[in-house]
Amino acid sequence: MNFFENILNLIFPIQCGICGKLGGYICDDCYNKLKNFEIKEQHENIFFVYQYEGIIRELIIKYKFNDKAYLYKTFAESLLKNKKLCNFVKCYDIITSVPLHKKRFNERGYNQSDLIARELAKNLTNVKTLDKLSLLYIKDILTKNKNIKPQSTKSVKDRIKDVKGIYEVKNKNLIKGKKIIIFDDIYTTGSTIGECKKVLLQAGALEVGIVALAKDYMD
Ligand SMILES: [Zn+2]
Repeated sequence: MNFFENILNLIFPIQCGICGKLGGYICDDCYNKLKNFEIKEQHENIFFVYQYEGIIRELIIKYKFNDKAYLYKTFAESLLKNKKLCNFVKCYDIITSVPLHKKRFNERGYNQSDLIARELAKNLTNVKTLDKLSLLYIKDILTKNKNIKPQSTKSVKDRIKDVKGIYEVKNKNLIKGKKIIIFDDIYTTGSTIGECKKVLLQAGALEVGIVALAKDYMD
């Protein structure tokens, strides 16, 4: 913690983003409530942390649509308490997030996935290098060139068609031969993040893993 962070903590004490209890960005009671929604079974290159239900769903909606940007600390702290997830993330070189289109970003003022991914990188060290550098966070690897309408009512086939070609890789030289994690808030059909993964691999990434804060089991 640096000097300015210490001063800030005096003015705005660290408190649980859910119940307001002082001492941490998430208290033990609230963390245990989130844990009820943890997904136990994991895949090889993809990690879903929570089910998009109950308190998780409520929190994510507050975070994205009710101007509660501070909740990124609460989410990040809950993810950092998850050892399995941390071990998964640490096997990668770089973490990045699914980009928002400029227009959406300007409306919201922040990219919800970006804030959490950045916190993870700050606190986790790549196991391969084991040096003082943390896992690398790169914000602008991907850009979104087209603003498409929310997809919830569309079929999987249409969604895949919609996202085709809308993401572009910037900074290609930074990702060549690297293992990259893409972080997203909600995973539904995987069409968006699947497209991001595809363009990263085409641009020369060695391996692409996915971490989603929540999996929406819609059908
Ligand atoms: Zn709490």
